[in-house]
Amino acid sequence: MDSLITSVIPTQLDLSFECQFDMYTGRGIRLQSTKAFDKSEKVPDGLQSAFFGTDFSDEMSYSERYRCDCGFMIGKMYEGEICPHCATPVHYVPVDMSRTGWIMLDHFKVFSPIFAAKLSDALGSVESERVLTRILQADYDPDGGEGDLAIRERDKEIRKKHPYIGKGTRWLVDNMEEVLDFYEAKKVNKKKLFAELRNAYRNNLMFTNAIPVISAVLRSETPGEKDKKLYKMRINTIYTALILSSNEINNLGSPENMTEADLCTVDRYLYTMHKDILQLFDEIFNILNGKTGVIASRVISGRYNFSARNIISASSGELRANEIDMCYLDFLELYRYEIINIYAKLFHCTIQEAQHAWSQATMHFDKVIYGIIQYMLEHNQDAIGVFINRNPSINFGSFMYVKIHSVIPDISNKTIRLNTRVIKTMAADFDGDQINIYRVIGLDMNKRIARELDPRYNLYIDRINGRVNRDMMPMKDEVVGFWFLNSCE
Ligand SMILES: [Zn+2]
Repeated sequence: MDSLITSVIPTQLDLSFECQFDMYTGRGIRLQSTKAFDKSEKVPDGLQSAFFGTDFSDEMSYSERYRCDCGFMIGKMYEGEICPHCATPVHYVPVDMSRTGWIMLDHFKVFSPIFAAKLSDALGSVESERVLTRILQADYDPDGGEGDLAIRERDKEIRKKHPYIGKGTRWLVDNMEEVLDFYEAKKVNKKKLFAELRNAYRNNLMFTNAIPVISAVLRSETPGEKDKKLYKMRINTIYTALILSSNEINNLGSPENMTEADLCTVDRYLYTMHKDILQLFDEIFNILNGKTGVIASRVISGRYNFSARNIISASSGELRANEIDMCYLDFLELYRYEIINIYAKLFHCTIQEAQHAWSQATMHFDKVIYGIIQYMLEHNQDAIGVFINRNPSINFGSFMYVKIHSVIPDISNKTIRLNTRVIKTMAADFDGDQINIYRVIGLDMNKRIARELDPRYNLYIDRINGRVNRDMMPMKDEVVGFWFLNSCE
């Protein structure tokens, strides 16, 4: 079903619950094979399982994209036919990205990555190592065994301050409250963080026995020679390591029947898994984050209609803080359709002829079109405004709403003229800085945006102390000019 997403609220999930839910509803699959391919075929419970969706490498590639609701009839050749079982027609079904693979531990738990990071923060460091890491690294030999006496003595000292070092993951899962109590008493300025951690622990969010694996569609690999992959993705390498460790632990069976040595092995693998999960978290975070991340480069970026980009130049004093002079070509492009409309009415010509005139005007300065521009500026002052913006957009003042004071009657001029007042809030100067321009459409939008972002009404008063905003004061060069102007006899 198509749905319109209007907002997203991130929540912390109970992964064990989500795993069970996915299994019951058929949207989840347990991954246990460390091999993704066997003789070039996808392993059903491997990382590239066809459960996530088929691709060109499969025998029945993409066939499930055409199906009835119950799945009895599958394939494009049945498109439109009614299924005798569920009475729905065979129709196109897009890839279900919510299908999730799960790596499960039968008897033990590991950290949810976000809480491992938060707890690590709360407990701090000892000898340039994270206390949490030292706790999770279980001791093989509690007495410290043989070895350098000096190191053993120092270790004893550290353990007086941090008594839980070497206890291991299994112990920590059962004794988290005690650890939180101990460190909360020491770190009085982190009350809020400890409260959050305690809450997460009590609500079963901190540890999980199930690790989600995102759909293979997002991380697909194809087998090459002798089942070796043509190219490898780091995220799949990490998932494989996690499957391997979880298998080792699950193969040992139930903890009641385990020897001390087995339990030691479990703790060692749990620690390995912990480190892999942190890497997995970083990997996914890096895929999404930053300029080259998916969100910035694939979701947000793209083409913006009615936009332009120009080098800025200073006005010689006739502009107010919320006014700009726009170049001729910008205005032609941003207000193209209005100009064509007015031209057609003015000359009683067809839209096509008007469009041709507009097109000619983009190559040779056209006095008639320029007249139309002046008419538009005069009669639509309230509805003709633009956003100006300078990257990086990190200040209040990086975005501003301004009115078009006039259009520069010169086709070769490709600059935008600004009042020098608004330069500082944009952290701009006149050595070739560029500014992005976005057209604001309609009288209503112009009015609403002007209320919040017009510099004349929003920037002169300092938001912090209520006094005159220093950034809006005259620049040094201007003050020098004023001084000479006023000091001649
Ligand atoms: Zn059916």
